[in-house]
Amino acid sequence: MASCPEHATPIGHGIWVIDTGYQRPMFDAAYLMVEQGRAAFIDTGTSLAVPRLLETLDAAGVARDAVDWVIPTHVHLDHAGGAGTLMAELPTAKLLVHPRGARHLINPNVLLGSARAVYGDEEVRRAYGTVVPVDAGRVIESADGMVIVLAGRPLTLLDTPGHARHHHCLWDERSQGFFTGDTFGLSYREFDTPHGVWLLPTTTPTQFDPIALHASIGRMLAQQPQRMYLTHYGCIGDIAKLGRDLFDQLDAVVALGERIRLQQLAPDERHTALTNGLSALYLQRLERLGSTLTREHALGLLAMDIELNAQGMAGWLDTASPVKP
Ligand SMILES: [Zn+2]
Repeated sequence: MASCPEHATPIGHGIWVIDTGYQRPMFDAAYLMVEQGRAAFIDTGTSLAVPRLLETLDAAGVARDAVDWVIPTHVHLDHAGGAGTLMAELPTAKLLVHPRGARHLINPNVLLGSARAVYGDEEVRRAYGTVVPVDAGRVIESADGMVIVLAGRPLTLLDTPGHARHHHCLWDERSQGFFTGDTFGLSYREFDTPHGVWLLPTTTPTQFDPIALHASIGRMLAQQPQRMYLTHYGCIGDIAKLGRDLFDQLDAVVALGERIRLQQLAPDERHTALTNGLSALYLQRLERLGSTLTREHALGLLAMDIELNAQGMAGWLDTASPVKP
């Protein structure tokens, strides 16, 4: 086995976490799972991450034709943008994707269009590189409860809408963990304290649905997982406690949205109210966890999430009827 690559860490049960390099270190992960010489990638990062993924495969001593699966949790570009570029390097792999996402990886034009609408042309080019289509003949659509097998290791797909309707999560019985994509929130390592880790729910555009998200998180927690493999970022434990906290924050975010809905603000004012409200909520949670980061540092690390979460909440307020407390 070659030496450990700079951007990847083995974390037990044949699983490697790979830092894709998107945005900043320890922001966006892809995972490699190796079982008896066969392998699967779960999430890929962008096309710019593919050299890191292949370097990890080499370090794990796995040949490219021994990769059976590439499994994006959903088709947002920080999770699946590199799928086509990666698949081109893996001659025998199948791409397993949610049925609502499959067509967008076969023809990524719609995906690129919506990314440009959110981030702008230049940022899409800088952050995502080239998005290569995946050959339709190599694509398999998942179904809720479907089990795939990696060299005898069962992996179960769960349909998990709420962050996006094209989102599935992957249950690994061996490690008693879910690969959660964005469904079980975000947890950045900069916010870890001696009291634990901080997890915040994603409420990003364009398909945020708090009721569906609550149900999807509940279905995962019902398995009593010991760990969650988050794309943003890494493997976390203490799941029962964090699950309760995530529900609590989701309720707080919904209550914030409903308060702002009643104010009937103009779009600009509403956006400001949402970003201010979310910032206050996040800072309060960090303080409660004993975080010693300054307010400026914390808000700087969360700037993109605050902006996108506010945009996603505005979209939800525009399309959904009020949620009763
Ligand atoms: Zn996403």
